[in-house]
Amino acid sequence: MTATRILTEPTPSTISVQELTRFCDDYLSADAFKDYAPNGLQVDGGRAIQRIVTGVTACEALIEAAIADKADAIMVHHGYFWKGEPAPITGMKGRRIRKLMQHGISMIGYHLPLDAHPLIGNNAKLAEMLGMTITGALYPNETHPVGNIATCPPQSAQKLIAQITQALGRVPLHISANYSAPNSTDANMEHNRLIERVGICTGGAQDMIEQAALMGCDAFISGEISERTTHIARELGIDYFACGHHATERGGIKALGDLIAQQFGLPVTFIDIDNPA
Ligand SMILES: [Zn+2]
Repeated sequence: MTATRILTEPTPSTISVQELTRFCDDYLSADAFKDYAPNGLQVDGGRAIQRIVTGVTACEALIEAAIADKADAIMVHHGYFWKGEPAPITGMKGRRIRKLMQHGISMIGYHLPLDAHPLIGNNAKLAEMLGMTITGALYPNETHPVGNIATCPPQSAQKLIAQITQALGRVPLHISANYSAPNSTDANMEHNRLIERVGICTGGAQDMIEQAALMGCDAFISGEISERTTHIARELGIDYFACGHHATERGGIKALGDLIAQQFGLPVTFIDIDNPA
């Protein structure tokens, strides 16, 4: 397992887990979102916070790394208690939570609020990494929309692939809008133009591609891909770039950690538990 550590370490101090959570709840407007999991404090480790570890997902490897780092709290984008999952704290979930409790480590999770935040959110950070400027929302009529529209200098799909590869350290899976069916006589199936208006939503947001097409985007960037996404991209004439769920969601939680380190003078370590999906 590869774990990359990036350490931000100012003078150590102590805060309560409630104070830490209150600050993040306010900063991210966590209460405003209807989410698939509770945002904020999910597991109370019962002690004050001096050291924090951040990561994308509160998996067992991250918990082990936090124990080794002597952290008092883990902060993640993917926590526990997702809508529809079995409630009993048994099996894998039981082992994770038991480990946290036994070591007095709190776990704090922010999901949609951390995707959507205009400054430190996953979408904002991905746009920044790709040299794009966010100009609006994919769903402009929602009060707290997740998903953005961004602009970039007009460029080919090949150039965008190179840029994504450099920014995220992995080659995206690209579905070209410029597709003609075998033996097709329908010239409308071919879409050949430069990309300058892009829909962005990190993670498993591949099904927002139709909305991106509706909003006039030349391309859509997300993390995952489904079989149907290929056909949607080709038939709606919008390029699709699947850049990895994990890879596109490192930016937000890392930025939140940097903010907390500055705000409270606590050492915050971002630990990247390698995930190719
Ligand atoms: Zn996600």
